[in-house]
Amino acid sequence: MFGIVPESCMPSTSTLIDIGINLGHDSFAADRESVIARAHAAGVAQMIITGASVSGSREALALARAAPGRQFATAGIHPHHAAELDEERLADIASLARQPEVVAVGECGLDYFRDLSPRAVQQRAFHQQLELAAQVGKPVFLHERDAHDDFVSIVREHRRGLVGGVAHCFTGSGAQLHRYLDLDLAIGITGWICDERRGAHLLALLPEIPAAALHLETDAPYLLPRDLKPRPASRRNEPMYLRHIAAVVAQARGETLEQLAAAATAASRALFRLPGE
Ligand SMILES: [Zn+2]
Repeated sequence: MFGIVPESCMPSTSTLIDIGINLGHDSFAADRESVIARAHAAGVAQMIITGASVSGSREALALARAAPGRQFATAGIHPHHAAELDEERLADIASLARQPEVVAVGECGLDYFRDLSPRAVQQRAFHQQLELAAQVGKPVFLHERDAHDDFVSIVREHRRGLVGGVAHCFTGSGAQLHRYLDLDLAIGITGWICDERRGAHLLALLPEIPAAALHLETDAPYLLPRDLKPRPASRRNEPMYLRHIAAVVAQARGETLEQLAAAATAASRALFRLPGE
């Protein structure tokens, strides 16, 4: 896309935090320890493992407990699974959300692109999880796709009770970006920006995100950056590629990788109250 500094030329000292990694995904079952080791070698010192269902949130918590201080979890129900959020499962999510290794409620939100759960059901599950986040005093990890107006109005209703939140995997327009920033939401940037077909508008928006509101995530194993060279044969994304995403973000913002990494790490530690190293 444009002259990105090769990974091999970058100092490996800057610390990065992957705030959205689906480490419990089946595709990591066979080599999860190697994936984690490669991420650490690339400077990804901490990871927040996304929970998107009750079972997935339990698994994320177990992975977090296996690596205290380095791995953390979220607990929530993705809008795709909103129909599963009955009273019993809401109680399960609430008890998971109170665990110290769980640093955010979510992934929750609205997804009208796939509409895998009816919209009214998604909205109800979203309200319930925002209420839960307010009760437990933890930030929210938010998903929104093709549902911007409803999403904003629901978040606005709850915003005063929330300690904070991040619009994860932001891929929207400039107007949408500023509506999130006006709600004092943070913005999660993935390897979507490395896609010259779909990500060009986002690259142009990156300088408009205040440093204190910018977080980095891979969303692995999804969203493999399209411009990796060589391109991994597996097509599986891994947390080690966060370094590549960070380099692209830094270049687009006119910052060094070190500046960008330091700011994003500080922002993520502040929002999710993560310990330093
Ligand atoms: Zn998502």
